[in-house]
Amino acid sequence: MSLKKLTNRLSDTHVCVVGAGLTGSLLAVFLARRGMKVTMLERRPDMRVADISAGRSINLNITRRGLRALQKAGLEATILKDSVPMMGRLMHSRNGETTYQPYGRDDSEYGNSVSRGELNKTLMTAAEKAGAVTIRFNQRVTNIDLDTNTLSIQNEVDKTAYEETFDLIIGTDGSASQIRETMTKKADYPCKQDLLNYGYKELTILPLEGGQFAMEKNVLHIWPRGLYMIIALPNFDGSFTCTLFLPYESINGSPCFEKLKTEEAVSQFFKTDFQDAYGMFDKPEETFFHNPTGSMVTVTTQPWHYKDRVLLVGDAAHAIVPFFGQGANCAFEDLTVFEDLLSKYVQPDDVLDWEALFLEFDELRKPNADAIAQMAIENFIEMRDKVGQPEFLLQKAAEKVLEKNFPNEFASRYSLVTFTHTPYSVCRDAGVVIDEIVCELCKGIKSADEIDLVKAEQLIKSKLSPILKGRVKDEVLSS
Ligand SMILES: Cc1cc2nc3c(=O)[nH]c(=O)nc-3n(C[C@H](O)[C@H](O)[C@H](O)COP(=O)(O)OP(=O)(O)OC[C@H]3O[C@@H](n4cnc5c(N)ncnc54)[C@H](O)[C@@H]3O)c2cc1C
Repeated sequence: MSLKKLTNRLSDTHVCVVGAGLTGSLLAVFLARRGMKVTMLERRPDMRVADISAGRSINLNITRRGLRALQKAGLEATILKDSVPMMGRLMHSRNGETTYQPYGRDDSEYGNSVSRGELNKTLMTAAEKAGAVTIRFNQRVTNIDLDTNTLSIQNEVDKTAYEETFDLIIGTDGSASQIRETMTKKADYPCKQDLLNYGYKELTILPLEGGQFAMEKNVLHIWPRGLYMIIALPNFDGSFTCTLFLPYESINGSPCFEKLKTEEAVSQFFKTDFQDAYGMFDKPEETFFHNPTGSMVTVTTQPWHYKDRVLLVGDAAHAIVPFFGQGANCAFEDLTVFEDLLSKYVQPDDVLDWEALFLEFDELRKPNADAIAQMAIENFIEMRDKVGQPEFLLQKAAEKVLEKNFPNEFASRYSLVTFTHTPYSVCRDAGVVIDEIVCELCKGIKSADEIDLVKAEQLIKSKLSPILKGRVKDEVLSS
């Protein structure tokens, strides 16, 4: 049976958004504002009334791309109010020495540490206030019939199962998306899931008595140890959420989850490798065994839609590993583009061609999602084993010199990704050339002050400018 093309006016369209995470909740705001009726199905209980973080509280570094979508929804100021600015990274070496690298080209460029849970709660409430939005919690989608646009749903409380049909279904159900799983199988779309051979574990550093931060507040802390690392992001309440990234199994004799089976082994591991942090962690051994070990996956699939009825957005379409801090930023950028496309495709009679919109959405976003997925893996290697090396530190210092001397022609890949809206695919291509230029300029010098600026200008103008085409600084958003 084939479905008739969807020709409802927006105000007569009933959309089901599957998953009330970050992407689904913000998407619901945009849909409701267009007059659509939105039902959200969320498998978990309502996190605004039940504590469900269970060792996965996670802070996000929300930057320019994420902020733009929040601004479009009128929520930027609300979210930033409870965020902690991070001006750069502070590396902690084994002997306790620290090295600071600013993130941006000046003080206007920084990251924002935001609690994922609090952000999610705010977005859910914003969705409910935006129009005809209902969030139904404890409802797990188990299947989708692509011929009839009918969802099979299980009530997680009483375990009853039922079916419901919608005009439009949007899967924002995260990296293990059921909508993607069913759609790719039934429509025979290619889908690849690369599981990283690393897991992550959350630890906490509590505030000092009196509520002060136990370490430097306005930075992202990193303890790089070659094949593994810990990072710590500040929370608004004075605590830090720390994440240990460690291989599941040993690589060339390295520590790994497999070897950390007893409290003694865990204690020994932290005391040896993270000496300066050990005393600050809140009950590290207990927490290590209490908190779950998270996994990380890169998902690539195409297309992201089925006819004019089903679409994937956010992690459901393109989950990436977290090492560029761009998963949610990329998902929110999806929504900025989606919202722009709604404006472009809506007709004066309030009807739009959903399939054409979905096709253009795929076309615009897929190359960029692929690019940030690749850069996130590359950044994993950079954070894990390069950030402490003298050669790497010289190259980063060289990038800062170039950014200062050529503010309209040069930006590091990090700056392009984090502080501009330059398409991720352009950032990736520019990044290759930036590496070449910086390596060339660092040959035979010991300090970034010795860079040959004449040669630098020549290299930048001949190699980088044709790729960036002036996209070095974006408009600064008012906050
Ligand atoms: C350790 C770590 C650190 C990170 N750091 C950053 C960072 O600094 N910056 C950044 O931008 N991103 C970061 N990310 C990535 C970010 O968390 C994700 O990109 C973001 O959460 C994706 O949002 P989403 O709504 O698409 O998916 P999710 O947040 O996974 O939400 C999916 C929702 O769907 C629900 N659901 C799932 N299956 C079903 C079903 N069958 N039926 C009904 N509901 C369902 C889930 O319960 C959930 O509520 C990080 C991720 C990790 C793991």
